[in-house]
Amino acid sequence: MNDIADRSLHLLQTVFGYPAFRGQQAEIVEHVGNGGDALVLMPTGGGKSLCYQIPALVRDGVGVVISPLIALMQDQVDALEEVGVRAAFLNSTQTFEETSRIERLVRTGQLDLVYVAPERLMTQRCFDLFQDSKIALFAIDEAHCVSQWGHDFRPEYIKLSVLHEYFPDVPRIALTATADQQTRAEIVHRLALDNARQFVSSFDRPNIRYQIVEKANGRKQLIDFITAEHQGDSGIVYCLSRKKVEETAEFLVEHGIKALPYHAGMEHAKRANNQARFLREDNIVMVATIAFGMGIDKPDVRFVCHLDLPKSIEGYYQETGRAGRDGMPASAWMAYGLQDVVLQRRMIDESDADENFKRVLSMKLDAMLGLCETLSCRRMRLLEYFGQPATPCGNCDTCLIPPVSFDGTVQVQKLLSAIYRVDQRFAAGHVVDVLRGVESERVQTWHHDKLSVFGIGADISEQEWRSILRQVIALGLVTVDHEQYSSLKLTDAARPVLKGEHKVRLRQYQKPVKHKRTSASA
Ligand code: ADP
Ligand code: ZN
Repeated sequence: MNDIADRSLHLLQTVFGYPAFRGQQAEIVEHVGNGGDALVLMPTGGGKSLCYQIPALVRDGVGVVISPLIALMQDQVDALEEVGVRAAFLNSTQTFEETSRIERLVRTGQLDLVYVAPERLMTQRCFDLFQDSKIALFAIDEAHCVSQWGHDFRPEYIKLSVLHEYFPDVPRIALTATADQQTRAEIVHRLALDNARQFVSSFDRPNIRYQIVEKANGRKQLIDFITAEHQGDSGIVYCLSRKKVEETAEFLVEHGIKALPYHAGMEHAKRANNQARFLREDNIVMVATIAFGMGIDKPDVRFVCHLDLPKSIEGYYQETGRAGRDGMPASAWMAYGLQDVVLQRRMIDESDADENFKRVLSMKLDAMLGLCETLSCRRMRLLEYFGQPATPCGNCDTCLIPPVSFDGTVQVQKLLSAIYRVDQRFAAGHVVDVLRGVESERVQTWHHDKLSVFGIGADISEQEWRSILRQVIALGLVTVDHEQYSSLKLTDAARPVLKGEHKVRLRQYQKPVKHKRTSASA
């Protein structure tokens, strides 16, 4: 049994206890096992770890895994040791003695795998160590961290390109779950992986049904959704803030749903206990911040809900991807409203990031809004974002109940004019009041009831105006200025619409409806 493929399969079965490789694993393992470089794009849960663990075992020497996730190293090493693989890690949490001991093991060839934080790898000491040792391969996990365009850029990752120069004969495998086309190109460029074979797995999760609804009363809509479609199922509800996590969990409990909170501000023991219960019991709804989920491997999560808008499609995909790992029908449900857009924009504006990075964040958010407001299949939008062409899926809300669109040019013109007439100095609530002819105190103070636009949109409900405004923001015709009380401002793109040169198609506002049981949950 000398053939790399045979030996790999043998290891998979005898060491890891799995009967067969999944998806592209077999090809990847064989390619890297034979000394080839690889770039692996595989969604979370797809089984990336085995793609470098098995070649590390097949080849002579120690496999070096570069990972930014120090918090997960211990777990990974424990899991490997459990199946008899000799593994260890090197990071800043260790004592000098511990570090020396592990370095000795590396040097004397007594380890199969060693996990290293990128900042550690770049030290002279670590370089010397690896120069002195026999290296089976370098695995660069979370490779998107090399991209400035990506959402978790790590400067140390840029330096990883030197691996290629210092260790030209050692194969490298870069892995990531989140890479749009641009990020992928950057990984190849910065890590000098031009000759690497690319393995791009499908990002499609056909068993997940995507639904994005307009938020009216989010918590109430959430209860309706859970009781109609997922009574008694395991699920995760994501909220932006710790406070909202606590409140939402309480609210669900009051309504007879077994919910538990989880966020980084909770006492450690309590948090660990809630997590353990979620994993063990089969009908817990975990209400959590995005701190929850990394490294959680529960196959029968039946639904993932978002009560707040994620910052990016990558985040949305990763979080919703925790549903239905077992391949059985599952739901990804989100309620989102104008307030979410305003809040996310404000968070970007107020962050300490430099202008360049803010622009990146802003583009990511725009893509997310585009997904929310799309008139076409959600899955198509998602997959296209990850560079994968697709056709309408038949298993998302826009496929099942196609949204009605209409020529909204006149309404949009009214809205843009109103923003202009109030000198672009007022926030959404006031602009909508002016449009609807509401004689509020503020309207009277500013004599806005005298404007030509006052009341020109009285035939449209407040909710509908908010829906139009959200779409207009998503389309980039209007921005929200947080330096100035969230006032609405027109962009350059607004002009051709005002002049009647561009038409605008809008998604018809749909009143929140009571959920009906769908076939996915039957
Ligand atoms: P990723 O790193 O891509 O998120 P992991 O490597 O953590 O995914 O794998 C996710 C889960 O799938 C793990 O529980 C892993 O043991 C399991 N898994 C991976 N490959 C296989 C396989 N060939 N057969 C069965 N289970 C697998
Ligand atoms: Zn669809």
